[in-house]
Amino acid sequence: MKALISIDYTYDFVATDGKLTTGEAGQQIESFLVDKTKEFIEAEEYVVFAIDMHDPQDDYHPENKLFPPHNVEGTSGRELYGQLADVYQQNQTRRNVYWIDKRHYSAFSGTDLDIRLRERGITDLYLTGVCTDICVLHTAVDAYNLGYKLHIYKDAVASFDPVGHEWALRHFEQTLGAEIIG
Ligand code: ZN
Repeated sequence: MKALISIDYTYDFVATDGKLTTGEAGQQIESFLVDKTKEFIEAEEYVVFAIDMHDPQDDYHPENKLFPPHNVEGTSGRELYGQLADVYQQNQTRRNVYWIDKRHYSAFSGTDLDIRLRERGITDLYLTGVCTDICVLHTAVDAYNLGYKLHIYKDAVASFDPVGHEWALRHFEQTLGAEIIG
């Protein structure tokens, strides 16, 4: 069984005036990312939206020292970007669509993602979203350590750092044994 994990494709990470944006690199993957998401939803595969949620007043969160405030709870910056917002809106009540508020880079950190996947007998994860070398990478590393087989749509991940993006794609394939789907 397989699942698609949709990571952080929000206004702050993608829009030109987003708070921590991947800019054009992120905007270019929109239609392919949306198509794949719809394909999984319509095929009744499990689709998980794992989306950063931050509180800039949280003195204990390391990201507050590393990055400007982004994906702040209750702000429009945290809404899904572009057509992905519509896809989620139209399908959010389906039993195969699940939303996770995550606090760290990895979709597994402090969430119930692993048990949700195991309950459904899911062994293969298809990752999409941003940033390739931060949240997608940390999710992939945790997935690898938990024994999942990884598949990465290279045209559905992006970063603000082109060198980091390329490095992460190589790492997925050569170190985490992921299938890179062109
Ligand atoms: Zn964050």
